[in-house]
Amino acid sequence: MTKSCSKCEKEKELDEFVKHKKCKDGRAGVCKKCVNLDPNKSKYHKQWRKNNPDKVKKLRNKWAKNNRDKTQKAVKRWLKNNPERYKVLTKKYNKKRSETLHDDYVKSAIQSVLKIPCSEMTPEMIHVKREQLMFSRALKELRRAVNESN
Ligand SMILES: [Zn+2]
Repeated sequence: MTKSCSKCEKEKELDEFVKHKKCKDGRAGVCKKCVNLDPNKSKYHKQWRKNNPDKVKKLRNKWAKNNRDKTQKAVKRWLKNNPERYKVLTKKYNKKRSETLHDDYVKSAIQSVLKIPCSEMTPEMIHVKREQLMFSRALKELRRAVNESN
């Protein structure tokens, strides 16, 4: 089965048209090639996102998961291949950690999230927040190192 594109007016197979629920034959009136050439193609994508919120959510989750897996794999691979550099990084990082993660610094980090006065912070909270900061910094540094060595 074929139909003609409303833009380039060429007769094409149905496969050549973007799927579109609202159209009679389930396909949009414009062929894929023309959609791709259209400077306003984000308009089509926007419409599609609007019509398929569940699919968008699934795609987003999938993308996030894939990227997380990829990053973790890359970090692991890098650690395995660069044990010496990792040691240097850790040493450097441990030094920096003791330099920057003072109680006051950690307290202000807690405050920016929880909006509570320092007097209400427990040592446990400070400990947890410090660990969290350490971890995210180490991860950031590792990611940078991975990017540089690639
Ligand atoms: Zn066309």
